[in-house]
Amino acid sequence: MSSTWSDLIDPRRAADTGATFAGRVPLAELRRLAPLVVDAAGDAEYNIRFSRDGSRRAVVRGEVRARLILRCQRCLGPMEHEVLATLSLAVVAGLDEADGLPEGDEPLLVTEGRICLGELVEDELLLGLPQIPRHVSESCANLPVEVAPGPSPQHPFAALAHWRDKH
Ligand SMILES: [Zn+2]
Repeated sequence: MSSTWSDLIDPRRAADTGATFAGRVPLAELRRLAPLVVDAAGDAEYNIRFSRDGSRRAVVRGEVRARLILRCQRCLGPMEHEVLATLSLAVVAGLDEADGLPEGDEPLLVTEGRICLGELVEDELLLGLPQIPRHVSESCANLPVEVAPGPSPQHPFAALAHWRDKH
């Protein structure tokens, strides 16, 4: 199927035909995500399938994958974060319908009939972000520019020794 991430898809019709969409979205095109990454180079890959479940609900299955460069909130350096999101969504027209979904399916509210695949991909990436991006401690430079108020639990010479080891 020839389609791009920016096309508008009717998810209910796509479910009727069992349509699959696969492709890439440039991260720089995702306006909600772009300000949250250090570098918006690269793409998110997606493979999204529409179908009807046993109750004739339009459901969305698939994967979204991207390698994001976030800013570590401890050392403010760049850090790699891999998102691999598995989609399990059911198309709903309202919140009352969302209440009746089987466990494991998240509601995908579609009120205007069509959705943009890029938005769906972006939603999954945003959900896959850590609340506070931080390196694992071994790879963190641990030299915060802004010092948090309050007493530091670390002896000042320990920080100096750490700095010396790095240089
Ligand atoms: Zn760090």
